[in-house]
Amino acid sequence: MPEGPEIRLAADKLAKVLSGRVPEQLDLLLPGLERHAAKLQGKRILSVQPRSKAMLIHFDGGHWLYSHNQLYGRWYVVRAGKAPRTQRSLRVAIHMRDHSAFLYSASDIEVLNAAQLQQHPYLSKLGPDLLDPQTTRDIVRQQAQDARFARRRLSSLLLDQAFFAGLGNYLRSEILYLAALSHDATLRDLDAQAPTRLADIALDVTLQAYRCRGVTNDLERVARLKAEGYTYSQYRHHVFAREGLDCWTCGATISRVDVSGRAIFFCPDCQPSLRGR
Ligand SMILES: [Zn+2]
Repeated sequence: MPEGPEIRLAADKLAKVLSGRVPEQLDLLLPGLERHAAKLQGKRILSVQPRSKAMLIHFDGGHWLYSHNQLYGRWYVVRAGKAPRTQRSLRVAIHMRDHSAFLYSASDIEVLNAAQLQQHPYLSKLGPDLLDPQTTRDIVRQQAQDARFARRRLSSLLLDQAFFAGLGNYLRSEILYLAALSHDATLRDLDAQAPTRLADIALDVTLQAYRCRGVTNDLERVARLKAEGYTYSQYRHHVFAREGLDCWTCGATISRVDVSGRAIFFCPDCQPSLRGR
């Protein structure tokens, strides 16, 4: 499933062709949704914003097209008159003069007004979105200091969209590595500065991943590795998907553990367990 940086990049791509324009044609093809299309027809699109793993397209007139891609949903942007090559089922088509945007396979699509947006069961539970320009460093730090989160293991806390919205599996491993923390620690186990440190690292690495096509590794190291002929997948991360390879920093062998069916990669020397392993 894509994570915050990839979803925001997809939103940027959509915004480029949709924002500020009135669709020439708009089709909502999910059963039960067609009757809501009239609320959006002929209305200018004001913005395209990701919210964690959902996409919100704001139409003039006070309506939002909400979509959550779940596992298989995917947006495509193509030149007008073209259609993406895919076997997936088409759910939404927005045709502009020069381009079309298509959403395939998503099953969680709604047309919402402002009140419904406020009370939406998915959106209303989200913590601060690390890539939302309105999310300040102070907001992120305050969230990390909230006592509600102090007893949760970092392995589950960092994937909980109510803590920080936008984090997924690769960012979780990378944040834990950069914070030199074990996945089995809780914030309560750590020193008083740990929540602030974790908040800063989560924010900084997520922003870097957004600006650098998903690269979370140290950028000076990346430049050196590129010059030495390393490929994107080899230099992209500190630890994620690097099981059995050497830690870039200390040379120890990167390990992997599966927690609730999802892999965490870590350096056993840089991230010692508090519980003894
Ligand atoms: Zn290491």
